[in-house]
Amino acid sequence: MNPEAYSEERHAMVESQIRARGITNPRLLEVMSSVPRHCFIPKELESNAYEDRPLNIGSHQTISQPYMVAVMTDVLDPQPGDRVLEIGTGSGYQEAILAALADEVVTVERHEELAEQAASRFDELGFSNIRVVVGDGTTGVPEYAPYDRILVTAASPHIPAPLMEQLKTPGRLLCPVGSREAQRLVVLDRTPDGRIEERESVGCVFVPLVGREGWSEDIE
Ligand code: SAH
Repeated sequence: MNPEAYSEERHAMVESQIRARGITNPRLLEVMSSVPRHCFIPKELESNAYEDRPLNIGSHQTISQPYMVAVMTDVLDPQPGDRVLEIGTGSGYQEAILAALADEVVTVERHEELAEQAASRFDELGFSNIRVVVGDGTTGVPEYAPYDRILVTAASPHIPAPLMEQLKTPGRLLCPVGSREAQRLVVLDRTPDGRIEERESVGCVFVPLVGREGWSEDIE
């Protein structure tokens, strides 16, 4: 893999798909201009990496549209020093963006093959602050809790309770919640005095979160 390739396409993606649609966070724009998205997808699709859409990455899973990664990261607002939990490793692209903005990322993937692929991409690209766990992310990863930020990148019928328990005070959790076909991004804040504030952000379409606190196995 050649991380230096496609730099023109990457800058054009940030300008026309992300900045032009109103994302202004300079750290985020800079990170999205530098993380090589084409290194996170199957070789035969490499030339489509910077298009304005999600792509299939095998095992019936997708890498999210660049703009969706930007919106979710912008709303999550990870800070230097933060420990972030991400559920649904997939290609690993979203976690690489998080790892460039926060201190430490713990990510969970239920498909072993995808988890292994993502872990070897992180090694090759030098992301040493991402820990990949294989398993059911709906129950979180209590060993490393609590987390300053939690991001779920699969669609759930509700916010999994164990994830709320593993969120720091203060902390922020994002999860696409809704039906299998369509969801809204739910943003949940635990305020410094421990109150829970919930709001809905953009509409979205994610693959299902399959596990004990999500959808059952047979829907995938
Ligand atoms: N963050 C990814 C996109 C994720 S697609 C990226 O940037 O490419 C959603 C992923 O969630 C899929 O890979 C799917 O296998 C995984 N997934 C679904 N249910 C899960 C669960 N309970 N625990 C962990 N991973 C899960």
